[in-house]
Amino acid sequence: MSSKQPAMRDYKNPATTVTKTVGSTLLSTGRFRWLLAGIIVPVAILSLVLLIKSPDSTNDIDPAEALAVDSQEPSPSGISIKTVSLPNKAVGNTRFIETRGSTSKQGTPTKQIEDDGTKLVLKVRSGDSLDQLFRRNKLSINDLHKITGLSLAKQHLRVIRPGDMIEVWHKGASIVALHREIDLYESLAVTRVDDAFIAETYKNSIETRIVEKSGTIKDSLFLSASDAGIPNNVIMNMTGMFAWDVDFILDVRSGDQFVVVYEELWRDGKYIKNGDILAAEFATQGKSHRAFIYEGPDGKESYYTADGRSVRKAFLRAPLAFSRVSSNFNPNRRHPVLNTLRAHKGVDYAASRGTPIKAAGDGKVIFRGTKGGYGNTIILSHGGNISTLYAHMQKFDKKAKNGSRVTQGQVIGYVGTTGLSTGPHLHYEYRKNGAHQNPRTVDLPQAKPLDPAFKADFERSIAGLTLRLNSQRQLLASLSEKAEQLQ
Ligand SMILES: [Zn+2]
Repeated sequence: MSSKQPAMRDYKNPATTVTKTVGSTLLSTGRFRWLLAGIIVPVAILSLVLLIKSPDSTNDIDPAEALAVDSQEPSPSGISIKTVSLPNKAVGNTRFIETRGSTSKQGTPTKQIEDDGTKLVLKVRSGDSLDQLFRRNKLSINDLHKITGLSLAKQHLRVIRPGDMIEVWHKGASIVALHREIDLYESLAVTRVDDAFIAETYKNSIETRIVEKSGTIKDSLFLSASDAGIPNNVIMNMTGMFAWDVDFILDVRSGDQFVVVYEELWRDGKYIKNGDILAAEFATQGKSHRAFIYEGPDGKESYYTADGRSVRKAFLRAPLAFSRVSSNFNPNRRHPVLNTLRAHKGVDYAASRGTPIKAAGDGKVIFRGTKGGYGNTIILSHGGNISTLYAHMQKFDKKAKNGSRVTQGQVIGYVGTTGLSTGPHLHYEYRKNGAHQNPRTVDLPQAKPLDPAFKADFERSIAGLTLRLNSQRQLLASLSEKAEQLQ
């Protein structure tokens, strides 16, 4: 399995390897994570103890640096809640030292070229061709032709973009070696052998560090997460994990607590980006939600609760993101346009015109068209005698044709104000056995749980992560106790 895995997946492999060694083979699936846990958990507990004893420990990753490198930051959302504040520095930050490194190679550069020739970094400028790049740096065009005559080299040198770097080692005009990063995970190496060249690719040594962080919400989830040194995209992903259980717009309160255990990718001692969240916990309104990553037999990773239920539900709680509820389910409501007493059999989500509307669950389009006061409407039929209705759409998505199958989260149309409507919003209904239910409170059917055949393996794989969550929760508890004593 490992040889067939693309390089970019390898960083997920849990084998503990020394970074910068080459040619090692890695254990290949997430099921072996527990092996790792056995090694790191004692280290974790030790470092936790050390952290508690010396809060000024400077071993933590600098969150400022991490944030600076990560360019995919969503902007913080403002849930404004006033609450107890904890000392920033002390909010859980435990660093783990082990590596889940990817150091296996498809081919090792044939010889060490660093001492052989002078190193030169070629920076690609706008409009450059390799030819121009070589001429400008007085490097042998003959060598370049020999190099690009090798199919592997040609494949990975064909496209060059302004800002790209190509490393060459040369003696005068003559090329000794050439390296180029293909992507984060893989590089090309071309090496001179007598009068010819050989080309090969090798995996970059990416070090995966597991980080766990936690916090208590005081102002907003995003601000508190940022205080705890958690990058925005990690916290965004965490809200995605719990989106089926927690309404992060309406349900989050001060005092709610969260823990995330996630991966960071490092290369040559430099932080690159965040990897997957391995486990997370969100405690709100006396209820604690936990989720753990697990790689199923199909190689797909999903999140499960500690007892092996999928965190996903068969239906989304709300069929569109970033909206607000403008009118709740209400059996006795005066209709805003008709001004008559008329039950509101759905939920209205105010959102700007054109906001994508998602299918709440897997199903089939049984109606698509104009439906009286509903305007442009889609009705989906789902298993279990459940149907959902989406009204007032500006337009339909092309793929959501009448009779076609749709999957959960697939965009079926866009928010508009067609039919009897006072402004752009989605009117959403959920019906079970023909009867209208409140989509915000109805008990949603569960998605498929974990195959019982993998239960034992799953339990092993989450054991270490459970300890990490527990220790962070204890840390948070002791911190809030301290904060209370100070007041
Ligand atoms: Zn409505």
